[in-house]
Amino acid sequence: MINKVLIANRGEIALRIHRACKEMGISTVAVHSTADSYAMHVRLADESVCIGPPSAAESYLNIPAILSAATLTGADAIHPGYGFLSENANFARIVEEHGMAFIGPTAVSIATMGDKVAAKDAMRIAGVPVVPGSDGAVESVSDATRIAGEIGYPVIVKAASGGGGRGMKVVQAPDGIELAFKMARTEAKANFGDDTVYIEKYLGQPRHVEVQVIGDGQGNAVHLFERDCSLQRNHQKVLEEAPCPVLDDATRRRIGTICAEATAKMNYRSAGTFEFLYENGEFFFIEMNTRVQVEHPITEMICNFDIVAEMIRIAGGAPLSIKQSDVVMEGHAIECRINAEDPISFTPSPGMVEEYHAPGGLGVRVDSALYAGYRIPPYYDSLIAKLIVHGRNRDEALMRLRRVLGEMAVSGISTTIPLHQRVVDAPSFASAEYDIHWLERFVETS
Ligand code: ADP
Repeated sequence: MINKVLIANRGEIALRIHRACKEMGISTVAVHSTADSYAMHVRLADESVCIGPPSAAESYLNIPAILSAATLTGADAIHPGYGFLSENANFARIVEEHGMAFIGPTAVSIATMGDKVAAKDAMRIAGVPVVPGSDGAVESVSDATRIAGEIGYPVIVKAASGGGGRGMKVVQAPDGIELAFKMARTEAKANFGDDTVYIEKYLGQPRHVEVQVIGDGQGNAVHLFERDCSLQRNHQKVLEEAPCPVLDDATRRRIGTICAEATAKMNYRSAGTFEFLYENGEFFFIEMNTRVQVEHPITEMICNFDIVAEMIRIAGGAPLSIKQSDVVMEGHAIECRINAEDPISFTPSPGMVEEYHAPGGLGVRVDSALYAGYRIPPYYDSLIAKLIVHGRNRDEALMRLRRVLGEMAVSGISTTIPLHQRVVDAPSFASAEYDIHWLERFVETS
């Protein structure tokens, strides 16, 4: 039984977790850096503890400070949110060694899925289709050349410990493989402290389709259908929708079932996401995220199910509260990630929010920690709000999205709302004819 949760995060996701806790009768502890003393997650939580200076390395990533805060306040569980320590297996292990529940998977699951080579192996064994590529790590230039030749160009060299879209090199032809392999290794070492790289077939025009799962670590698991997150810039998702507009129901159920069965087979605990590239009717697994995702609300909207609350219940030892037959998908949902950035140059735009008006009405959800008079600090991610709409079908969701983007008002800083307005009005977005490269081309040409 969990009575008090420490939320090891900030911004909208800290609020999201706080809200789930409150509805479950659980009290909350916020942690914050000195730059976040006036942040909404601190103001709303039942208790708060300052854990360090603005730099994330000294605050939101500071494991001893977070554990001290949890011990001091008598928290019996920690929710890591996304980013920061959410996929740090060491953190998950230490939390449990201190007698607290980690609201997420086991340290072993996090470590396995955090190593993309190990993750692909685990998926192959569990019957999940993976991108064709090297069976494991590639150790030398000669191996890289041979393997890339066997797979066929273009290929992509990826860091086993990579994340956030970094540490990837696309190679079009054999004369580029040596340099790409060496650079990928050097960059992987510098960025992730691990120079293990592997090679995959580079898919030219895939969509990014991901399946939400949740398991209880007691042998039960369900899928909550899929999301299409193809609209990306620099491999970062910008707008997501659920369900994927180009899948038919049979395909949707087939890939969902594969993921739910793999989740049960791995005896996976908590929420997780299987990410796939989808091209010419085929799914190719690329990675599993072992945490709640930024875009989880669109799944909550179409399934009418609280993913964060279920994560908390499961961390408290409860079995999964639903069976697959209870999961019913209804309508269509779209999420726009609103960033404090210039909508053309994408340079960050921190500063004082002078006015703030959140849209509302039927089928509208805004996940945000903004308020008028809040000063957005320059130290963290530029995501300031997630605008989520739900409609009976995709057309209704699109109409609603157009309406709410026009209604939302944030002054004093620049935001990416104008970018989303242009996207929603683009004919190929309306007809769902896009792949993972569409947004970057659109940004360059519109
Ligand atoms: P990260 O953990 O850094 O997010 P992923 O493996 O999830 O890395 O890949 C991020 C993005 O990179 C994908 O959404 C896709 O846009 C692109 N990508 C990754 N692998 C491939 C591939 N084999 N072919 C084409 N694009 C790829």
